[in-house]
Amino acid sequence: MKVLVINAGSSSLKYQLLDTESGEVMAKGLCERIGIDGVLTHTGNKSDEKFKFDIAMPTHKEAIQSVINILLDPEKGVISSMSEIDAVGHRVVHGGEFFSDSVIITEKVLKAIEDCVPLAPLHNPPNLTGIQACREVMGPDVPMVAVFDTAFHQTMPQSHYMYAIPYEYYEKYKIRRYGFHGTSHKYVSQQAAEMLGRPLEELRLITCHLGNGSSICAINGGKSFDTSMGFTPLDGLPMGTRAGNIDPAIIEFLAEHEHMDAHEVINILNKKSGMLGISGVSSDFRDLDAAVADGNARAALAKDMFNLSVKKIIGSYVAEMGGVDAIIFTAGVGENDRSVRWDVCEHLEYLGIKIDPEKNKYRGKQMDISIDWARVRVLVIPTNEELMIAKDTERLVNEAKAQ
Ligand code: AMP
Repeated sequence: MKVLVINAGSSSLKYQLLDTESGEVMAKGLCERIGIDGVLTHTGNKSDEKFKFDIAMPTHKEAIQSVINILLDPEKGVISSMSEIDAVGHRVVHGGEFFSDSVIITEKVLKAIEDCVPLAPLHNPPNLTGIQACREVMGPDVPMVAVFDTAFHQTMPQSHYMYAIPYEYYEKYKIRRYGFHGTSHKYVSQQAAEMLGRPLEELRLITCHLGNGSSICAINGGKSFDTSMGFTPLDGLPMGTRAGNIDPAIIEFLAEHEHMDAHEVINILNKKSGMLGISGVSSDFRDLDAAVADGNARAALAKDMFNLSVKKIIGSYVAEMGGVDAIIFTAGVGENDRSVRWDVCEHLEYLGIKIDPEKNKYRGKQMDISIDWARVRVLVIPTNEELMIAKDTERLVNEAKAQ
């Protein structure tokens, strides 16, 4: 099946056309500066050449139309008719408590995504705009599926997702841990089961999605059991620019002493904290590694804090699940930064975890990096959220056809 995967932001729109049978990316690209002027960057699988065009994109509708036009282009495109696109999979950030799986988009589904806007005011509105634009350009007959970042985590037990604040705030506002990066955690857990040659239902996994945004997930028998991001993606680990978990009383203290309101403090916790805030160097782990090599103590401190937080969460998830069969590293940092993987797993031999330093030298490659005798396997698995979205889309479209 050929599935167009769309990830719509407020002024940008990423796309990939995937063949789900082979997993091949037929074409991919990015529309930027939507609502300002419009730039399209596109690569098709006919050549590695990257094309860049200025195209007027006053709204997401023109952006989608440009995507379709370039996919149909006789030279730069990869299809000869729009009917070759069997379905569209849309990434949607927040599905609240409505969705525990991906879903075929209907009017009822659109209303529920709209109802989740207060939970993700920056993300769900552009996701909805992307869906509407796609329907306008491609017509009502092309099946479309919404794939949520939060859905995978809906299996968490209530004691894992509640915050210990008055229960009425959960009832009134649905304040609870939702978790994010669900598509990535689900994808790498499925790959891990394949690599280990064991059914996912038998495995206890800890998946570490470590990138610019980072989260960890305890996956028990294929189901999300706990995860580090919370009501918003600000919770959990310190990240590129996000503080992660802090004492909430710091917010009032800072507001009072720095003469800011809560919104301004949260902005600092989202955009100026984490690796950037501690190191004063950068939010990018490559820059931090270079600074550490130059002897920068604060860059080293930032990385130590990050690694310690990952280790602490792994420890707590091992305790929650009563053991672990494999730890998976994925996303930009997890796939590439060998010092993070090494430091996180150091001194965990008592749990049966030991990385092979030779195997840990590889970057961005799917492989088992644990030492032969290790009871717990440590795996590096490059994530592929687009493929997971395409596969979910294919599954739901086939199920709907069979009914
Ligand atoms: P992501 O959000 O998954 O795209 O990950 C982005 C992060 O991955 C960037 O902030 C980089 O710091 C990190 N990253 C990418 N390549 C490397 C590398 N070779 N070594 C260390 N970190 C890397």
